[in-house]
Amino acid sequence: MAADRQLSEFLKSAVDPMLKAADDKVLLLSCIDLRFPNRITEAMDDLSYRGRYYHLAMAGASHAAKHSAEWTKAFEDHLEFVLAHGPVKGLIIFDHMDCAAFHNYEGTSPGDPDGERQKHIDVMTMVTAAVVKKYPQLATHVFGYLLPKELVEQIIHV
Ligand SMILES: [Zn+2]
Repeated sequence: MAADRQLSEFLKSAVDPMLKAADDKVLLLSCIDLRFPNRITEAMDDLSYRGRYYHLAMAGASHAAKHSAEWTKAFEDHLEFVLAHGPVKGLIIFDHMDCAAFHNYEGTSPGDPDGERQKHIDVMTMVTAAVVKKYPQLATHVFGYLLPKELVEQIIHV
């Protein structure tokens, strides 16, 4: 599938430079949406990154990092834990189209994919900049990636 090939190419270009030492790792932040975590895991494992990443799932992904003081603290506490103990060298935020959290909290609409796409870009840009500002050791190693809409039927059939 073209979208998966694009995801794999992005991951390789983003993750390889973060994993210089044998124990270096990355943190993935994705939405809790049930359509996506397995797809991300499969793409990472297909690139032989198994054992090299932590995966934090919070509703809305980039949105979660700025949802409220409590959610921001939960995100940052997890990031700080893996920065200290990973050691994590980079962060990849996986937003996705057709995100209920964005519809609920960011004012996007299922009928306006262009508007939703732009909102994801705006929020990911804001959050990645805030992360690099607070954790300058991650500079050039924080990425946002917007996954396309995926139908449940596409991932549950065998
Ligand atoms: Zn979502």
